[in-house]
Amino acid sequence: MKVLKFGGTSVGSAARIKGLLDIVNPAERQIVVLSAVAGTTNALVEISQAYTAGKKDEAKDLVKKHKDKYEDLIKELFSTEQGYKNGKELIDYHFNLISTLANELFTSIEEKVILAQGELMSTALWHFYLNEIGIKSVLLPALDFMKIDEDNEPMVEYIGEKLSHILAQSPENTLFITQGFICRNSFGEIDNLRRGGSDYTASLIGAAIRADEVQIWTDIDGMHNNDPRVVKGTTPIAHLSFDEAAELAYFGAKILHPQSVFPAQKYNVPVRLLNTMEPNAKGTLISKDGAQKGCIRAIAAKDGITAIHIHSSRMLLAYGFLRRVFEIFERYKTPIDMITTSEVAVSLTIDDTTNLTDIIKEVEDFGSVTVDGDQTIVCVVGDFGLNSHGYAARVLDAVKHLPVRMISYGGSDFNVSILLNSDHKTEALRSLHNRLF
Ligand code: ADP
Ligand code: ASP
Ligand code: MG
Repeated sequence: MKVLKFGGTSVGSAARIKGLLDIVNPAERQIVVLSAVAGTTNALVEISQAYTAGKKDEAKDLVKKHKDKYEDLIKELFSTEQGYKNGKELIDYHFNLISTLANELFTSIEEKVILAQGELMSTALWHFYLNEIGIKSVLLPALDFMKIDEDNEPMVEYIGEKLSHILAQSPENTLFITQGFICRNSFGEIDNLRRGGSDYTASLIGAAIRADEVQIWTDIDGMHNNDPRVVKGTTPIAHLSFDEAAELAYFGAKILHPQSVFPAQKYNVPVRLLNTMEPNAKGTLISKDGAQKGCIRAIAAKDGITAIHIHSSRMLLAYGFLRRVFEIFERYKTPIDMITTSEVAVSLTIDDTTNLTDIIKEVEDFGSVTVDGDQTIVCVVGDFGLNSHGYAARVLDAVKHLPVRMISYGGSDFNVSILLNSDHKTEALRSLHNRLF
């Protein structure tokens, strides 16, 4: 069984929603995961922010503006009275729900309910459209099986058991549709897998049901060798290994959610990145044997990084020092991305600054601490193994005119990362591109 995921642009208009059938063959048994219609989740974030700020009138205007777009969309999508009626009832229901939350105490629980409405609408709209044109599909509510635990980690085994049971109840059906991004948390509340999370949903489902393949359909022809939003002349990569793709996704290649490679990798389910606008393009295949020796594959960048530098004379010859520092980050559930050490100092980076103040207070017990925000990690993926000489030097040569704050080399055979101030990101990406490719 295959899992196909279509992103926001791929379902971004009535024409695109209808066009899904150019790619999806309804006769094949498969699960199709949909994102919200392009722009919807951003709009829902804006509405939530207005509620949080107590700006009810502003929120009301935003809700109306956005509902009008959906009114236009359903007019174009449905051609029968019954189809339109179904669509109209659906959007009325969801936008009413969003409006009534204006009267509640607005917490992160209500916010997550609002953020879930986009995927709930897009999937139901496609299901109704298919019904209108006589194609059978089954709408699987993701909230019935997508679950995260108390550490916000997806529960793959649980998802697999639940889904297998649900699928077994419909042996005759072939086309199953479900929502990306949304899930339930350990309290049973509506939650989500963070922005861009529909990729993660697809990979989790693929892993959970041991799918033959996961296809991520988006608006570009695969993983490019650099960020196409920043650098001109980037090109798609035909084949990547899971490790390479995971590194690029984690370090900022927006085409994939940062965690979305791991579930597929764990169960060895190949992932294909494909272009909805150009369905015949080869795209990128991510699989176990995708690595290529003797070359540099791609560059990615992750913004919003904070660097923490701890200088401590007590570190000199001390064992257990790093453990005690790392324990602080662990207690605050804050992942560390990069780390470099010297005999008397350690520098590390984080991207989640929720608990930064508390963390720093505790870290200061070890020595003097400096903190710098607005940093960017630039990650170069390629063959940096012991037997491949000179590649790391080429990376450093390409950024020698820029103030590099940290360098990480040797953590794996396929990655060199550098940290610099975000002001230098564009120049770093361009210079690396020009010299490496
Ligand atoms: P979707 O809505 O389908 O999930 P996204 O906008 O999340 O699509 O991801 C696709 C976008 O990712 C592309 O349009 C492109 O601008 C951006 N992107 C950033 N880095 C890369 C890269 N290395 N390769 C391909 N696309 C990338
Ligand atoms: N709709 C969600 C977002 O915009 C999830 C996704 O598109 O992957 O973040
Ligand atoms: Mg995305």
